[in-house]
Amino acid sequence: MSVEGITTNIQRCSTEDGPGIRTTVFLKGCPLSCVWCHNIETIDPAPQLVWHSGRCIADLACIKVCPENALSLISDGMKIDRTLCTVCGKCVEVCPTTAMEMVGTEWDVDVLVQELLKDKVFFDTSGGGVTISGGEALFQLDFSVKIAKGLKKEGVHVALDTCGYGSEGTLNKILSVVDMVLYDLKIIDSQRHKNATGVPVERVLDNARIIAAWGKPVWIRTPVIPDYTDDEANIRAIARFIIEHMPNAERYDLLAFNNMCIDKYALFELEYPLREVPLVPEEHMERLAHAAREEGVANVCWSGMTRREDNRSTNIQDQEEESCHG
Ligand code: SF4
Ligand code: SF4
Repeated sequence: MSVEGITTNIQRCSTEDGPGIRTTVFLKGCPLSCVWCHNIETIDPAPQLVWHSGRCIADLACIKVCPENALSLISDGMKIDRTLCTVCGKCVEVCPTTAMEMVGTEWDVDVLVQELLKDKVFFDTSGGGVTISGGEALFQLDFSVKIAKGLKKEGVHVALDTCGYGSEGTLNKILSVVDMVLYDLKIIDSQRHKNATGVPVERVLDNARIIAAWGKPVWIRTPVIPDYTDDEANIRAIARFIIEHMPNAERYDLLAFNNMCIDKYALFELEYPLREVPLVPEEHMERLAHAAREEGVANVCWSGMTRREDNRSTNIQDQEEESCHG
């Protein structure tokens, strides 16, 4: 098998990554470093070793097999010395409980396409398909293009989920083989965008115009992150950009922040920077959606966990909501 690309996950039966029932394939590697990133395992393009404390039975098989002496069991748990670890995977092979896990699966494209086609009956009956996501799908451009071509050959609808941070040539290459785009517009002000994601926004906006020129259907998405993206001025600015530059936008999704990725960060010995940030109030999501509609965007939806604050008590109720208005 030739290794042509690397993924972190294949998520089946997704209903949020494009039309119908979809299988979303998450590619590894991303050029952005969003403060609120929920898929921390997709940032690094290379495979990474992680240890799940709850699964470990401490039989030390991993420590015994490691040729680099990179592992030690200390009072805090298994310590992985990443300066010594060569990510050879031997500890994963001998671990009896999957406590040792290699994040990142290497694929030959044909094998991956066959794997994705296992869900074709669901795509055909629901108007769904496959969504290529990440990380950033443009980061492994050739891999993404080959996946899309392999699926298109079998009549499968393919969506690209992208943050838009790639060259014009890169974007044109993938746009020629996908059916639609899920496009992130997070912040319109360039300095704020850079502070929050590590990169300025100009290329993202230029690429949005290129996608518009292709005329392919686009769903725009904004993660609503307290103190980063959640002010009405930002949402109104994004909405005006959509109206002025993206006539191909079929809907605009506002995705409410949550901090359910805290445990994932712990696997990588990291602390989620927004761990103490509360959920967004439902009323605020409604307000932002209303503001986008006022700017003229026709189909605005919001979804995600929110909190309801009872004026006469301190009760906070979490809930999962989706609200769409044409
Ligand atoms: S991946 Fe290889 S080098 Fe790294 S800890 Fe495991 S056995 Fe050791
Ligand atoms: S081999 Fe697995 S179960 Fe055994 S000590 Fe290592 S991580 Fe724990």
